[in-house]
Amino acid sequence: MRINIAIDGPSAAGKSTIAKKCAKLLGYSHLDTGAMYRCVAYKAKKEGIDWNDEEKLAEMIKNMKIDFDKNGNVYLDHEDVSQKIRTNDISMGASSVSRHLKVRECLVELQQQIAKNKGYILDGRDIGTVVLKDAELKIYLVASASARAERRIKEYIEKGIDFDRDEIIKDIERRDYQDMHREHSPLKKAEDAIEIDSSDLTIDEVVSKIKNELDRLGVVYD
Ligand code: C5P
Repeated sequence: MRINIAIDGPSAAGKSTIAKKCAKLLGYSHLDTGAMYRCVAYKAKKEGIDWNDEEKLAEMIKNMKIDFDKNGNVYLDHEDVSQKIRTNDISMGASSVSRHLKVRECLVELQQQIAKNKGYILDGRDIGTVVLKDAELKIYLVASASARAERRIKEYIEKGIDFDRDEIIKDIERRDYQDMHREHSPLKKAEDAIEIDSSDLTIDEVVSKIKNELDRLGVVYD
């Protein structure tokens, strides 16, 4: 039996890392929906479109092409933007463009189209509540603000991205506030989601908790 899995939670809670691990475990495909909002912010900036201009953003999305390869690299109109969309500026931009209903409608439709056959793990903010309401397994992954900031800093060091520590902490807080208080599809735990606090857990410990849920559902994996 193949299922769909939704993983939601605040920024830097480890959603993508966990989603990738689970996808490997199950032989499923992983879709990083945050990368799609990041691509919208990146392209808008490049084209001089204001992140607050809902109409122009929606128009722009109609002519943009987002692809992922099997290693998780992100291509925007055939350009590899995997690193370029991970800056602090684009993180805030993604949070800004994602407030608009028309932007969300376009991307949600694309995401639902991609995951219409089972065997997908989507991570984001509205997967369990909007995109895949019928996902068989919903995880709401949280972690303390300090644990999340430390992880983001580690990730930046590993990827060789320049950063300012205080800015990272402020951005995480600002972005979470914005994502949780917006009008359309704010970040919240789906009623049927299982909450996992990863602050004091290793990646493998989180995966093992998810394995317990998969066992409960009777999903077979290696
Ligand atoms: O997950 P990531 O940090 O890459 O997401 C970037 C931003 O995109 C989030 O802060 C959020 O505003 C937006 N987003 C969203 N819905 C999703 C995924 C991401 O609104 N499903």
